[in-house]
Amino acid sequence: MIHFFNTISGKIENFHSIEPKKVRLYTCGPTVYDYAHIGNYRAYVFEDLLKRFLIAMGYQVTHVMNITDVDDKTIKGANAEKVPLDAFTKKYIAAFFEDIDTLNIARADYYPRATEHIPDMIQMIKGLLQKSFAYEKDGSIYFNVSKFPDYGKLSKIDLKELKPGLRTDSDEYEKESIHDFALWKKSKEKEPYWDMGLGHGRPGWHIECSAMSAKYLGETFDIHCGGVDNIFPHHENEIAQSEAFFGKKFVNYWLHCHHLIVDGEKMSKSKGNFFTLRDLLEKKSDPLALRFLLLSTHYRKMLNFTFEGLNQAQASLHRIQDFLYELQNRSFPEGKNKEVHLIIKEMKQSFFSGLSEDLNISQAITAVFKMIKKSNILMERGKIFQQDARDLIIAIKDINEVLAVLPEEKEERLPEKILKKIQERQKARYEKNYELADRIRDELLKQGIVLEDTKDGIRWKIIKTSR
Ligand code: AMP
Ligand code: ZN
Repeated sequence: MIHFFNTISGKIENFHSIEPKKVRLYTCGPTVYDYAHIGNYRAYVFEDLLKRFLIAMGYQVTHVMNITDVDDKTIKGANAEKVPLDAFTKKYIAAFFEDIDTLNIARADYYPRATEHIPDMIQMIKGLLQKSFAYEKDGSIYFNVSKFPDYGKLSKIDLKELKPGLRTDSDEYEKESIHDFALWKKSKEKEPYWDMGLGHGRPGWHIECSAMSAKYLGETFDIHCGGVDNIFPHHENEIAQSEAFFGKKFVNYWLHCHHLIVDGEKMSKSKGNFFTLRDLLEKKSDPLALRFLLLSTHYRKMLNFTFEGLNQAQASLHRIQDFLYELQNRSFPEGKNKEVHLIIKEMKQSFFSGLSEDLNISQAITAVFKMIKKSNILMERGKIFQQDARDLIIAIKDINEVLAVLPEEKEERLPEKILKKIQERQKARYEKNYELADRIRDELLKQGIVLEDTKDGIRWKIIKTSR
């Protein structure tokens, strides 16, 4: 059984998906007015870990991440550079995709952009007007918080603090000042606008996620994630809009990661402790060491980023890579040691049971290092055999499907001579020449190519040691 801490109940809960073995997941994505910082990537790496874990547990995950390409910040940036909004956001969208590839973050199934879903938002706003959950004031449209008695159920704010009629056009504000919030903002001078029967204007930030999640995941879905700063007002407002419009529960499980801070302080440009991924790459940091660092603190704990911590993460990663390197490059005697089988079994059990407990990453990582330590001792005693080396490489590959901290190469880069070897092995298997088939498999394994015989045919993956 999988357990997650659900922000809305404040409790650890059993996880049940709406459809058996399928998960619909929505994660709030970047506002593309600048390069994303390492705090943002903590959130995206946490979400990636969650998704990869669910996939490893046999779930088919449909993942949607929005791209906010129109809001106060993007408009301000485009105006400052005197370029059209889409020309301004384009470069940050491209940078975002480059960054997530660098960090081995698996792509979502959909990346809906706000500017491409204005009609969906308009439809929702019109519905909210019709149902009297929204009202118009001076050309803008606001959500009437007092009409939604459940308001505050996620962030636990006290609705008594609500001052009726107080409203804001701003997308972000403090818990202390609960407001009616803008669904549709009347356009100011030099602002891009849409006109679809609501007057010249543009959507507020919150309505984006309500409209786009429903479009791709349905009216009720399984998991919604973000950083803790999203709880109020963003996610609280998403719940109000979606539940008022559809009259149904919006999301079953809310998972929020805590913030990343730097050297014990909030990241800020003026303090000089503000880092984008690009800043770290310029300093020659290994992005996968950063990934390891970002995921190795439990997602609900604050993560204090330091360069010393990054060096430690790098050292841990090297231990895994060195181990793999030894397995791939030493020559082992023929045969098999039962003890290795038990070591792997124990590692997997602890790795996955750890992650099943609200993503207990410490337990999962400890399990991997225990396996490495025990195997290294056996290796030094000459007690690792060919079959064991192969099984250990596959075990590392399996856990790397979840952690994704080792560099993997893409399919299309497999050299011709390796492809020939794979074909040769398939032929050998077809001819029931299992000895030859196994020999080829071992040969490829030594070069870092892991073959897997599945019911859909042969699958392979390259694991490089990069050392
Ligand atoms: P934004 O582009 O500001 O909307 O943020 C994108 C995602 O990054 C959201 O899920 C935020 O909650 C998350 N986020 C922003 N700052 C931090 C931080 N310092 N640590 C962790 N997550 C963050
Ligand atoms: Zn959102």
